[in-house]
Amino acid sequence: MRKKIVAGNWKMNMDYNEGLSLFSEVVNMVNDEATGNQQAVVCSPFIHLHSLVQMAKGYTKVSIGAQNAHQEEKGAYTGEISAKMIRSTGAEYVILGHSERRQYFGESNELLAKKTDTALANGLKPIFCIGETLDERNNGTYFDVIKTQLAEGLFHLDEQHFGQTVIAYEPVWAIGTGVTATSDQAQEIHAFIRKEIAAKYGEQVADATTILYGGSCNPKNAAELFAQPDIDGGLIGGASLKSRDFTDIVKTFN
Ligand code: PGA
Repeated sequence: MRKKIVAGNWKMNMDYNEGLSLFSEVVNMVNDEATGNQQAVVCSPFIHLHSLVQMAKGYTKVSIGAQNAHQEEKGAYTGEISAKMIRSTGAEYVILGHSERRQYFGESNELLAKKTDTALANGLKPIFCIGETLDERNNGTYFDVIKTQLAEGLFHLDEQHFGQTVIAYEPVWAIGTGVTATSDQAQEIHAFIRKEIAAKYGEQVADATTILYGGSCNPKNAAELFAQPDIDGGLIGGASLKSRDFTDIVKTFN
């Protein structure tokens, strides 16, 4: 059975103390609620990583991740953070290709393929984000957009490395807007993603791949989304900043 994951993406929120205080609530509440093959992942700013990993010790259902990593191993890249540095904090995951990074920082599929390689080479599991913009949804090119993001960003990986990745479908028009994809819209894309994976790596790999939905997911709509056969959890932005909301989303799997 594939892993069910609810991942929080704090984005650029929470100073050091605020982050520790939020996490101290989350770690207790979530660990009690996550059952079976369910995992909660908190993706914090870099400054929190080491402390959160320490605080999460003994809580087996809670893992820590970063929100970005540099594509090079190391070197003269002032202000940047490498995959190895992230891994050395004990963090296990890294979000790559979030639409905000694609949009505001010009991250291309080609660059993201490189970031994926570097993250995997350093023992991090990528949560690889894909999704169409509102224009692409409206002009009907969204299947092509998603197919290209998968092909160029991930499908160069061999089967073993691909197996370490989690995919997050996040329609850009649903992120932070309060407009959620309907469960039918999300399921349609998730099934399409799984079909693409099956065509490239075979049914077994496709069946084992965790595919998350992201975009205005909240305690009210999570249950219906997560009940879809190809939706294996969520990537949660706004609602991950409230311990009760995040916990309630984790709970919807029970
Ligand atoms: P949101 O963000 O839940 O606030 O829409 C999701 C994301 O950007 O990962």
